[in-house]
Amino acid sequence: MIRTLHRESSQAVVRPTFARIDLAALQANYRAVRAFVAPPAGGAQPPAVIAVVKANAYGHGAAAVARALEEAGAAMLACADIEEGVHLRRAGVRIPILVFGALSVSDLGGVFEHDLTPTVSSPSAARALHTVAARRGVRLRCHLKIDTGMNRFGFRYDNLRATLPAVLASRNLVFDAIYTHFATAEEAASPLFEQQQRRFDAAAAALPELGLAVRRRHAANSAALLGDRRTWLDAVRPGLLLYGAFPSGAPEPAAPRLRPVMSLHSRIVAVKGMRPGESCGYGARFTASRPLRIAVVPAGYADGLDVRMAGAGAVLVRGQRAPIVGSVCMDSITIDVSAIDVSPGDEVVLMGAQGDDSIGVGEVARWIGTVPHEILCRTGSRIERVYSGADAGEPAAG
Ligand SMILES: *Cc1c(COP(=O)(O)O)cnc(C)c1O
Repeated sequence: MIRTLHRESSQAVVRPTFARIDLAALQANYRAVRAFVAPPAGGAQPPAVIAVVKANAYGHGAAAVARALEEAGAAMLACADIEEGVHLRRAGVRIPILVFGALSVSDLGGVFEHDLTPTVSSPSAARALHTVAARRGVRLRCHLKIDTGMNRFGFRYDNLRATLPAVLASRNLVFDAIYTHFATAEEAASPLFEQQQRRFDAAAAALPELGLAVRRRHAANSAALLGDRRTWLDAVRPGLLLYGAFPSGAPEPAAPRLRPVMSLHSRIVAVKGMRPGESCGYGARFTASRPLRIAVVPAGYADGLDVRMAGAGAVLVRGQRAPIVGSVCMDSITIDVSAIDVSPGDEVVLMGAQGDDSIGVGEVARWIGTVPHEILCRTGSRIERVYSGADAGEPAAG
């Protein structure tokens, strides 16, 4: 009898290295952020939460994340460009979608066909949107972006008298809100953070005279909403917090309690010995000073790991930390398991909890000197996202 060892299967193939995405944690984080910005009972209207799902929802998979946030009650989603917005609509999202980015090199038709809310951040963007809206005979709802010191997108705060009258003259553009973005919200002592707030207030105060009755204002990303309640205004725009991470890498005592949404898993595929004086990996930069046991994990920079993690980071195996040694290759890393009794097949946690220990995204970011946002976003496109929680029955589109 002939036995086939490797059967073709119609089921989804999940590689040994994959990401778990906990949508129940995402929804709990959304509720925690909303509760954090809610004023005491009887107070004013709490700010709306515009949930940021740009960049494939920070690597978590935009479709599943967006649907879970919509289900949790988010007022609006925000993405980076029209193409991301179209993707969200195709995934079935119905709530308003704000597009942050400049529009100049995108096909503006998507804004109208998919009911997106564009940001008008320059005179040319306003002209282009006006032209298409007028041709279609519609009044398009937009948000107006004021640049208060980031010097990226938006109308310069000190030049509004010159730039805005022509924009506001359009009968086809309706401005639902104005907003700005902070450059230094993570640095408590930054004078620019205060300055940007003052400039935004002044701009909002000057706009009625220029013909714009300001309906709503928003400014706060995760760091600003955590650090300064004066930034809450009519809406807040958290990204990172929803994914269970803190801008500074670690929560402060008064911060909302959040759960990590993504964890990254793999398995040991080989274990071998190294003799003193031998080296391991490209460039032979790591040399054993004593007999070592090394394990190979099939996850590399093509999966989103960073080459700078070699010699700086660790993974969890059998609840213990195994340092990443040698070099981070495209498809694999090597870890020092001399102190741990391991076998091929053992689970490896690259990010997340195992046993009593856990490796958070903030810690991984510190190893290589970057922000937690980057670690989440760089999760490789070949990594399968395996969803649990709210939307678990849905296909893992993203
Ligand atoms: C990315 C982004 C946010 C969210 O930032 P976090 O630090 O992830 O909270 C908010 N506003 C704008 C304009 C953004 O581009």
